Amino acid sequence: MMNHVSVLEISLAALQHNYNFFKSRLLKSTKILGVVKAFGYGSESVAIAKHLETLGANYLAVAYVKEGLVLRKAGVKLPILVLHPQIAQFDLLIENCLEPNLYNFRSLEAFLNMVSKTKLDNYPIHIKFNTGLNRLGFVVDDISKIISILKATTSVKLASIFSHLAASEDLSEKAFTLNQISQFKAIANTLIKELGYTPMQHILNTSGVVNYSESQFDMVRIGIGLYGFGNEENITKQLELVGVLKSKISQIHNIEAGQTVGYNRAFTSATAIKTATIPIGHADGVSRQQGNGVGYVYINNQKAFIIGNVCMDMLMVNVTDIACAEGDAIFIYRDQAHIEDLAAKQNTIPYELLTAISQRIGRKIV
Ligand SMILES: *Cc1c(COP(=O)(O)O)cnc(C)c1O
Repeated sequence: MMNHVSVLEISLAALQHNYNFFKSRLLKSTKILGVVKAFGYGSESVAIAKHLETLGANYLAVAYVKEGLVLRKAGVKLPILVLHPQIAQFDLLIENCLEPNLYNFRSLEAFLNMVSKTKLDNYPIHIKFNTGLNRLGFVVDDISKIISILKATTSVKLASIFSHLAASEDLSEKAFTLNQISQFKAIANTLIKELGYTPMQHILNTSGVVNYSESQFDMVRIGIGLYGFGNEENITKQLELVGVLKSKISQIHNIEAGQTVGYNRAFTSATAIKTATIPIGHADGVSRQQGNGVGYVYINNQKAFIIGNVCMDMLMVNVTDIACAEGDAIFIYRDQAHIEDLAAKQNTIPYELLTAISQRIGRKIV
């Protein structure tokens, strides 16, 4: 299934650079959780997780149990927080020493039910509070019931309490974000007072670290930053892109005036032009929205714009003014500015372009 001509080259040196960049901005005592969900933001979760482990990261996070299982099978030993575990997979989660985020009474009680059937004691769990994102999480009024549930069992131990910011990259939402942080502080204080021990606390994601580093608490959860994006130009330019997407020209065509290119004959040439066919398509994560002159690849350091509709497995670009030949190497995603520009043209964010790179694309660790 692997398409070995189009390859995502994953630089562990870039990962290390980015890890050290964020580490240098944090207090020495602050733990780092590396977020490796969605195949390491579309790269390769095992290689990324193992490298983060050697770099000294304290925790990893994935979204779903199966993602954590892949890491355990590959020998990753770090604690792994599962951000959105499904009740039906709690048995698998426990078998693989993964740590659940529990965010409502349904998930908390189901987990206690499951863990109490084992002989386990002090199984680490994490409890999430909703402070304004309105996605997952308990609210402040739930604290006393949470405490009474936790006090009635020795099966689990609260490893951390956390919350998630809704707009940490958007400084026009600073008042909202500061309110989330102060709500979280109040929740943590109340809960810890009643609990009798102190779990870790964490709220910052990448942009949180950049914009609200005074609220790093015990740990920060860094995702996109590790892969090379700071959600603002001044930070991104200090980071390195972990995944560079490369391919090779399959065929070159000389198109005469009046001929059309691609499905639905979406492009009609006004003049004689030259096109190159590239072996990557919308099934690989290059959106059809990039077609018809919107998106571009880099060939020989020049932009070659997509002609006509993006096909499932390939696309055609205009190379009329670019010196190139069949078999030449090209960049589908060359650097952060390229990805940011394509994302903006597609009315989305780099997160979506990265995670859309399909499993058919080869991964090469460099
Ligand atoms: C994905 C995720 C993160 C990482 O966010 P970035 O913006 O990529 O740093 C952190 N925390 C939670 C709860 C997440 O779901």
